[in-house]
Amino acid sequence: MKKFISYSTLILVIPLIIFSCNQPQTTITKPDYVIVIHGGAGNASNQDINEEEQKEYKEKLSEALSIGEEILINGGTCVEAIEKTINFLEDCPLFNAGKGAVFTHDGHNELDASIMQGWDLNAGAVAGVRNIKNPISAAIKIMSESKHVMMSGNGASQFAKEQGLEIVDSSYFFTENRWKSLQNILKSEKHGTVGCVVLDKYGNLAAGTSTGGMTNKKYGRIGDSPIIGAGTYANNNTCAISATGHGEFFIRYTVAHDISALMEYKNMSLEDAANVVINDKLVNAGGTGGIIAVDKNGNISMTFNTNMMFRAYAKSTGEKEVAIFK
Ligand code: ASP
Repeated sequence: MKKFISYSTLILVIPLIIFSCNQPQTTITKPDYVIVIHGGAGNASNQDINEEEQKEYKEKLSEALSIGEEILINGGTCVEAIEKTINFLEDCPLFNAGKGAVFTHDGHNELDASIMQGWDLNAGAVAGVRNIKNPISAAIKIMSESKHVMMSGNGASQFAKEQGLEIVDSSYFFTENRWKSLQNILKSEKHGTVGCVVLDKYGNLAAGTSTGGMTNKKYGRIGDSPIIGAGTYANNNTCAISATGHGEFFIRYTVAHDISALMEYKNMSLEDAANVVINDKLVNAGGTGGIIAVDKNGNISMTFNTNMMFRAYAKSTGEKEVAIFK
């Protein structure tokens, strides 16, 4: 008897085949979730940050990591994990984001942040805001509740207020430490931007970054952190990246997107692509800093060309690390 497949069977089966081919590749070792965070990179040496300070930084990084992990374990999404993890780091005065942000040349705090999700390439960013308590949450609202990608200054604050986010007096961001560092302009500039990248159990990637920028920056200067493709990038086909370092170089070399592009077009592994961009291209150009990243299979990279980068990661497999120096 002649066998044939009916049109209706084909109509049902073909979309199923296409759908399953488009799903992120699952390897046996692919973890359920991965979270990587950074708290900035710089050229401070082991002597510049004493043991007690190192302990304090590590404790805060650990705490931040567990906030994100808890959300991921309970089935939360990558964006939810990134928001709450970065909110914690923004509220912690040790880091250069939210409270504890560095000062501009004329003594203000101007904050930048961005978020990107890898499955639809949607993104949101704020730049140069002076009174939004948690800039990463404003970036997320711009992504989810507006038609725009980036808003700056007063307009961004107005939007954040309309979205019910907490607005604070600009004196909230003041910390004695950052004020002193403006006065002294540290000989080895200390960075402290925060970032978080996540692969969640749904196979989705996202990246977020939040910063006060660079100490002594000129009024109105915007760095790489709120710029999609420079300081933040996520794409489910490749990886999610958050950068930290001398922003002007990260913008000119579109660092985050460049790493993703090397993976996409040259089939490079995440680690190789990060190495080429951070330790080759950036070093040759004189750009200092680093990145954290996770790829679609759960591999991570924490690559930097400075002495140190505050960093930590955790995987559902139980692997975990909190580190500062190389
Ligand atoms: N990349 C940030 C900026 O240039 C600073 C940093 O990461 O430390 O604004």
